[in-house]
Amino acid sequence: MADYEVPELKGEGYVGIPSVLHDTMKGKGPFIAKPDFQEAMCFPADFGKNDYGEWELVPDWKNRALEKLDDLRHRYRSLQLYLDICVKCGACTDKCHYFIGTQDAKNMPVARQDLLRKVYRRYFTFAGKYFPWLVGAVDLTEDVVDDWYNYYHQCSQCRRCSVFCPYGIDTAEISMAAREILNHIGRGSKYNNEIIGKVFKIGNNLGLPGLALKDTLEGLEEDVEDDTGIKVRFPLDEAGVDVLLVTPSADFFAEPHVDGLIGYAKVFHEAGVSWTLSSHASEAANFGMFIGSYENMRRIALRIREAAEQLKVRRIIFGECGHAWRVAYNFLNTLAGPFDFLDPKYPVPQHILEVTWGLIQDGRLELNPAENDDRVLTFHDSCNVARATRMGDKPGGQFEIPRNVIRAVCNHYVDMPQDTIHDATYCCGSGGGLLTDDLMELRVKGAQPRMEALKYVAEKQGVTHMAAICAICKSQFTKVIPYYGFSMDQIVSVHQLVSNALVLKRKVSVQACPDSRDMDKSP
Ligand code: SF4
Ligand code: SF4
Repeated sequence: MADYEVPELKGEGYVGIPSVLHDTMKGKGPFIAKPDFQEAMCFPADFGKNDYGEWELVPDWKNRALEKLDDLRHRYRSLQLYLDICVKCGACTDKCHYFIGTQDAKNMPVARQDLLRKVYRRYFTFAGKYFPWLVGAVDLTEDVVDDWYNYYHQCSQCRRCSVFCPYGIDTAEISMAAREILNHIGRGSKYNNEIIGKVFKIGNNLGLPGLALKDTLEGLEEDVEDDTGIKVRFPLDEAGVDVLLVTPSADFFAEPHVDGLIGYAKVFHEAGVSWTLSSHASEAANFGMFIGSYENMRRIALRIREAAEQLKVRRIIFGECGHAWRVAYNFLNTLAGPFDFLDPKYPVPQHILEVTWGLIQDGRLELNPAENDDRVLTFHDSCNVARATRMGDKPGGQFEIPRNVIRAVCNHYVDMPQDTIHDATYCCGSGGGLLTDDLMELRVKGAQPRMEALKYVAEKQGVTHMAAICAICKSQFTKVIPYYGFSMDQIVSVHQLVSNALVLKRKVSVQACPDSRDMDKSP
């Protein structure tokens, strides 16, 4: 199936420390973005191909890279700090799923950081300028740029390493800064930048235009009506409703994502909440974060504000998407706020799981968990949700609320081993803008630790399905899980489980009607 070795699972629930190899993943970065993609994102596009058909760097690339590094270390104090304070204790070395899976020494978090740190030292510290050999400082060369491109695109910005670092050094932030610098010298990733261009042009990552989206949603309404006999609405661009739902575009048709979207719609229907999707903001994902570009992240986030204002909604709720929730939870207010035109009764934004759990606690949803009795569930904590956000108003809500919902709708649930869940969770292997087929080897190898934990609970406790709340995790797992002997349909959306268990009693969905707002008591 693959022209590289797929790691062998032991079924012991944990992964040992691998032996260190060198350059096993050298030169295996993603395809490079062409100038058109760069231009659309306001990055320099004055570069082309050489006589061998290879992309060159922009003219004067070295000065431009150093200027950008200088700009970023002043803009983000944390970046300067992270570059300065590493003591090389080694606590992070075996914590990265990509090092575990590939054994490449440069995929150790500290080594990954050092690729940028060595250049920072050479040009921006006294010791590095005058005694570079003493402090491991190096000149910025094209070889260094190649390593930056390869290895900063072998970091999913999952932040697992930072949990184990005694100084809390966040490799993800260094990786974002490196990608921002690379984008300024003609080394953007095709996958990320093409996707961001589609959001600017069409409104979502998949390039799904408004009419196609409308068709898709009408099809879903028919499917649900055929299945349940009840007309559950999937409204688009409906002004005057309570809720604007912003969800990853994969929810519109990919499996198992779309089953989650059906679950959200059923929850709104049954709770009597009027809601809508927006063709202008038909994407929750914000790949601007992956490439470390504040400006592009802001442009994407502003579309959500524009949609909310145009549609005159009272609340914004996000669907199941890991990094979208990270951007929304941490930055939406500063990127696109203030949201003083929304109802102050509700947090801005809310996660669909917070809403569903609130409704369950208030007894407003009738559930029949026996509908999921054909499966034994476990739950994959998505990195961005687990290590960069919260849910609800208590610490740890991001771990408890998804599990509470699953336990409310399923009778059989078990957790994977403790050192692979909650804030120690392993990345799916494709976060941070790496969900592209040109990185299949990395994706398969990076999934090894999660697959090891899954195999353990599958063999020891009869787990049949793994639920996730991130579009990237779901897409990655359905693709790589067969390499490890599982089948794609073993991955499910959490709201797919809700959808199965939810008893629909309300005959008609609530429609846009300003007067109906006063009746809403949803959490
Ligand atoms: S942030 Fe995640 S992917 Fe990046 S180095 Fe740390 S553990 Fe590895
Ligand atoms: S754990 Fe932190 S201080 Fe120690 S080597 Fe890693 S990044 Fe440096």
